[in-house]
Amino acid sequence: MHPEWNGQFSSFHLVAKTDHCSRSIVRVHDIEIGGDEVVVMAGPCAVETERQLLETAEAVAKAGARILRGGAYKPRTSPYAFQGLGVEGLKLLRKASQATGLPVVTEVMNDADIEQVAEYADIMQVGTRSMENYSLLEALGECGRPVLLKRGMVATLEEFLRSAQILALAGNPHIILCERGIRTFETATRNTLDVSAVAVLKMVSHLPVIVDPSHAAGIRCLVPALARAGIAVGADGLLVEVHPAPEMALSDGAQSLTFREFRGMMEELQPYLSIQREGRRLHPELVARGAD
Ligand code: PEP
Ligand code: MN
Repeated sequence: MHPEWNGQFSSFHLVAKTDHCSRSIVRVHDIEIGGDEVVVMAGPCAVETERQLLETAEAVAKAGARILRGGAYKPRTSPYAFQGLGVEGLKLLRKASQATGLPVVTEVMNDADIEQVAEYADIMQVGTRSMENYSLLEALGECGRPVLLKRGMVATLEEFLRSAQILALAGNPHIILCERGIRTFETATRNTLDVSAVAVLKMVSHLPVIVDPSHAAGIRCLVPALARAGIAVGADGLLVEVHPAPEMALSDGAQSLTFREFRGMMEELQPYLSIQREGRRLHPELVARGAD
């Protein structure tokens, strides 16, 4: 580890890279996150209707996504905004998953909902606003599902890895880290995608790291460029918002891609994906970029 980091990460021994473990792979059915393939997870910000979800699931599966995203419980900035369909939304996610074969990642906001969400989700998402909800993290220790942990929007990487360590200490080592943009002085984008964070995390931790270009950008025309940046810096996956009619979306429409845009993005990403795949196959040690 770089001496400049002053050992700040090595105290998180369960998630920090060690001689014994340079990378860990999170398995969901036959999908490996942190393996040779970059895994794309896509779907709407929020589950709204059966038709919206099924159409989106089919479109993203056809374009190459491996995992379906969609929020049934939505942590919203405004108390007046759509809060999600709750259990109804979870049931629709199951239906879409059965129709397409895509496993599901969905957010859990409260300890009390864990059991129910785990019944329907293949991966439990902890949102940016919950990264420091230690009681939620501890309770997720025994949920029996991998956790996609999003970086808090004002969290340092030390704080981010501390949360991962809490989860692992609570008994759940199956963690995927997600860089989703942090709050900076910049206003042209919703958040600032911290590309360096991916490089640092890959260097100091053995956990898989994915990038969410949608919440980082806040506007859809920037999403493909940030997705490319994520792959180039070594992300193990992407989390992308897609909606059949973004202008009608109940949440995050401005940053959601249409089906056509998502297809276009996936096609454009192919050369980057195959370079990654080939590199990872030939030099698996490079997946854990930057052994020191
Ligand atoms: C989401 O993925 O829809 C979401 C709410 O993300 P974040 O927690 O990163 O804002
Ligand atoms: Mn969203």
